[in-house]
Amino acid sequence: MSGMKNRVAVALLATAFFQLPNARAQAPVPQHVLQQQAGGYSVRVGDVKVTSLTDGTVPQNLHQLLRRAKPENIDRLLARNFQSNPVEASINAFLVTMPGHLALVDTGSGQLFGPGNGGRLVESLATQGITPQDITDVLLTHAHSDHAGGLVRDGQRIFPNATVYVGKPEVDFFFNQDNQKKTGYEQAYFDIARLTLTPYLDADKVKTFSGTQEILPGITATVYPGHTPGSAFYRLTNGGENITFVGDIIHVAAVQFPNPEVTIAYDEDQARAASVRKAEFASFARNRTLIAAPHLPFPGIGYVRAAGGNGYDWVPVTYTNREGK
Ligand SMILES: [Zn+2]
Repeated sequence: MSGMKNRVAVALLATAFFQLPNARAQAPVPQHVLQQQAGGYSVRVGDVKVTSLTDGTVPQNLHQLLRRAKPENIDRLLARNFQSNPVEASINAFLVTMPGHLALVDTGSGQLFGPGNGGRLVESLATQGITPQDITDVLLTHAHSDHAGGLVRDGQRIFPNATVYVGKPEVDFFFNQDNQKKTGYEQAYFDIARLTLTPYLDADKVKTFSGTQEILPGITATVYPGHTPGSAFYRLTNGGENITFVGDIIHVAAVQFPNPEVTIAYDEDQARAASVRKAEFASFARNRTLIAAPHLPFPGIGYVRAAGGNGYDWVPVTYTNREGK
């Protein structure tokens, strides 16, 4: 289906269900107005619009996945949040709209989780009037299936005009088979990183970074090894405001905010993943940093607040949906 047809279909739906009969006659919406639409939720950071886009949700069996936590403690913490195992995890990607760039932070899971599980990012982009061809940059927090999976469809690039940014240690690690033997990290992670990144590498559309580097105007990438060897944060600063895209520093709000030492099977280096989480949660709370997280409940944008002991709370951004805000 062409992007144009998609856009027409979405416009028709919007007309049928959401708009007043005279909506077409109204003046164009000024640039500063945020209109919330299904599939997307926008916040403004300085003059830059950041839109959380849902790729869908997937169930997670925490008894199997979490490490350093007893099943009875997991169940107690879930019950406290009116949840039970398995829990539903959001998959969020984030669109950054700024002059000259339409940048996506992560791409969801694409086809990798099978029909009905994730893979809704392109649909969510369409609700914003954006086609994959419009995307100029993809900022990968890391190369796991639910972040890089949406880069390709049937082995082809979905974002033909995009440059993909990824931490150099991520490419170095996953493209060297010796690392699988050395670490015992699951083979599937290596296969997925290569499957999703190779078409962009072949097209010379990958840029890697190390340490801390400004990759786009006002966007700085920093590598935080732990969850994966090249896991990265992207920090956007504009007009004295900022937001940090934190990747998989957290998967399960109900458990890992009160107990940041709890890790998950997906963490390549369990100890390091926990220590990054503890240090960065402390920093986010102290600096009142706005963060955007792929697996916190959609839209996954909010603040980390210090609670009792070593624990933290999650404070989502205040839902806002009116003109001029
Ligand atoms: Zn991950």
